[in-house]
Amino acid sequence: MSLSDYHIHSTFSADGCDSIDQICEQAINTGLEEICITDHFDFEPEDLVYHQLDVKQYIAAIQSARSRYPSLSIRVGGEFCYQSSRRHEIAEKVRTTPLDFVLGSVHYVDGRLLLPSQCAASPVRVWARYIEEATSLAGAGLFDVMAHLDLPKRYMPASCRVEPEAFVPVLQNLVETGTGIEINASGFRSGLGEPLPSLALLKMYRSMGGEVVTVGSDAHRAIHVGSHIKDCLELAKAAGFTHYARFVERRIQWVKID
Ligand SMILES: [Zn+2]
Ligand SMILES: [Zn+2]
Repeated sequence: MSLSDYHIHSTFSADGCDSIDQICEQAINTGLEEICITDHFDFEPEDLVYHQLDVKQYIAAIQSARSRYPSLSIRVGGEFCYQSSRRHEIAEKVRTTPLDFVLGSVHYVDGRLLLPSQCAASPVRVWARYIEEATSLAGAGLFDVMAHLDLPKRYMPASCRVEPEAFVPVLQNLVETGTGIEINASGFRSGLGEPLPSLALLKMYRSMGGEVVTVGSDAHRAIHVGSHIKDCLELAKAAGFTHYARFVERRIQWVKID
C-alpha cells in the first residue's frame, strides 16, 4: 500500500527539532511515498510559544528539497491554530497562502494554550469550551482537515473523558462543510494506545456521511516520521473507510486502503 504522512513539523516550527532534509531521509527509510510538511501558523502573539513563520522561506525550502529527494513526493502544508475570535485573520491567511494542504487545529481554550495543568484543574470546562471551538472550526469551512479531533484526552486521565456523543455538533459541521478528519498517530507514542480521534469517533463520522480522512504522525522529530501510520490505516478500515486522502493544491487525491 502506498503510505503517506500528512502531519510533520520541521525547524520552521518553534517546537520542531529536525530539518526538512532529516525528515525526508527518514521518510524514505521508512518506506513512505509521500509526505506533507505542516508547520505551525500561529495567530496569538501574546503566547510564549508564538512563532512567526516566514512563509516565503518555508515554501522555498520545501520546494528545494524536492530536487534533492526525487523519489519522495513532498507537499507543502500548514497547521493553522484556530481561535474563533481570530477567524477573519485566519481566513485571510488561508486564502493568501499557496499550500497543498491546510490542517485546522484547536490548541487554545479560554485564550490559553491547552496544557495538562489546565486540563487537570477543570476538565469539564475544558471539554465544553474545546468542543465549542472545535464546532466553530468545523463550521468555518476554511480547512481541508481537522487535526487531532479529541486533543484534550492527551492531557487528562481516562476517567475525565467525555462520551463520543459530545462530539456530534463538531462532526455534523465537518460533514456539512466537507471537512475531513485526521487520524493522528501521536496517541500511540504518548501511551494512549490509540490515535486522535478514537475509533468510536471515526465510526461516528463515517456513519454521518464523512468521507475524508488523512493520516499523520504529528512528528516534531524526524525519528517519528511515518511512525504508526499503518496502525492508523487499519483503524480507518475498521471504521468503514476504503480510501484515505492526499492533497495537491487543496484538491483531494484518493489512495486505496489495502
Ligand atoms: Zn496540533
Ligand atoms: Zn502538529
